[in-house]
Amino acid sequence: MRIPIIAGNWKMHKTIDEAVQFVREIKDKVQGTDVEVVICAPFTLLLPLKEAAAGTNIKLGAQNMHWENQGAFTGEISPLMLKDIGIDYCIIGHSERRQYFGETDETVNKKIHSALNHGIKPIFCVGETLEERESGKTEEIVKNQIQKGLVNVTDEDVTKIVIAYEPVWAIGTGRTATPEQANEVIYQIRETIKELYGEGIYTEIRIQYGGSVKGSNAEEIMNQEDIDGALVGGASLLPDEFVQIVNF
Ligand code: PEP
Repeated sequence: MRIPIIAGNWKMHKTIDEAVQFVREIKDKVQGTDVEVVICAPFTLLLPLKEAAAGTNIKLGAQNMHWENQGAFTGEISPLMLKDIGIDYCIIGHSERRQYFGETDETVNKKIHSALNHGIKPIFCVGETLEERESGKTEEIVKNQIQKGLVNVTDEDVTKIVIAYEPVWAIGTGRTATPEQANEVIYQIRETIKELYGEGIYTEIRIQYGGSVKGSNAEEIMNQEDIDGALVGGASLLPDEFVQIVNF
């Protein structure tokens, strides 16, 4: 049985006071849920959030990390530093990082290995652009991202990864993939995992959908057979919306 995971991606939003207030507002309202609840916050918020979320079912994630433990990498954060403050998850390969910060399938693969080596669970993002979808390349693009991102990831490790299928054209645009469109690509991702890892593992791995998920569309998306939760951007900044999504 796959436990769905709802992860908020706060991107570059919120001060410490706002973040702590957010947790105070939602913690009792998400307590009884069967899904795993994660907030992926900017680095400055992780420690105060960790304290605010102590004793609740809210887990924390970062939005990026370097693959090295330490070194001359100005401005970067290492997996050791994230582990040091007890972070459970890290988003890796988000399309905004691929688009604006030069993230490639190769750096994604290095980060996935490094996260797994440190006991941090990667939320590994893949997805096609609008142009790629319109030219019928969705399956090829996503398959390629999955294959390259998972190079040399073992059978044992792969089930610790959460894959997030996020069509780039649906992120922050208000344009959501239909539940059927999302499920179709996620089904294909599962097939790719089956090709790479064989029977068994492909039914275990969790695959989320991300792209303009909100309270009002969460249920129909989450009810799809192959979709195991959501990576939520904009709507995760609003306590009521996030609670509604978690309790879909
Ligand atoms: C995201 O940032 O991963 C995302 C899905 O954003 P939004 O929900 O705002 O489309």
